[in-house]
Amino acid sequence: MGREAVGAVARLMTALGKLPGIGPKTAERLTHYLIGASPEEVLELADAVRAIKLEIHPCRQCFNPTEGDLCHICSDPRRDPTVLCVVEQPKDLMALERATNYRGLYHVLGGRLSPLENVGPEQLTVDQLLRRVQEGGVKEVIMATNPNLEGDGTALYVSSLLAPLGVKVTRLARGLPSGSVLEFANSQMLSDALEGRQAF
Ligand SMILES: [Zn+2]
Repeated sequence: MGREAVGAVARLMTALGKLPGIGPKTAERLTHYLIGASPEEVLELADAVRAIKLEIHPCRQCFNPTEGDLCHICSDPRRDPTVLCVVEQPKDLMALERATNYRGLYHVLGGRLSPLENVGPEQLTVDQLLRRVQEGGVKEVIMATNPNLEGDGTALYVSSLLAPLGVKVTRLARGLPSGSVLEFANSQMLSDALEGRQAF
């Protein structure tokens, strides 16, 4: 192998090793797999990775990643636009979609308030949420941030801004283990937490 080839291999291994859940061993195994794979397979993967950044952007309304202007949930006429479920990340939205039969819409904050990491309301889509509610038509906002310190703090802050707008604000029932994250909660727990939501 020439110097360039070695460079390319090292570059791929380093890039793969940065992905969550992939250690150096797995990065090396994947790299060797890709070296042996067909050009079609490798280019298909490269295209799919590239498309994530070039074709996927936040939904204009709820900030869920999508290829179109509106995501598949916002553009579904069968969903109830009077109920908004506020989540931290798209993966939380996906967990709720997988686990529950929720039929309302969502709002993805893009994170949670974290003074320690310098994440304030302006780094999140809080203003956009307030605007959505101010535009009218929303009757209930369900705070579905993670049941941990920062998630609870975020829910409290956002609900204090929503309260004066005359909308009903609820939160997931406390059935979820404290300190847990939505994406790892089991389906039954998540369904129960949504079903049993309480006024904030
Ligand atoms: Zn959307």
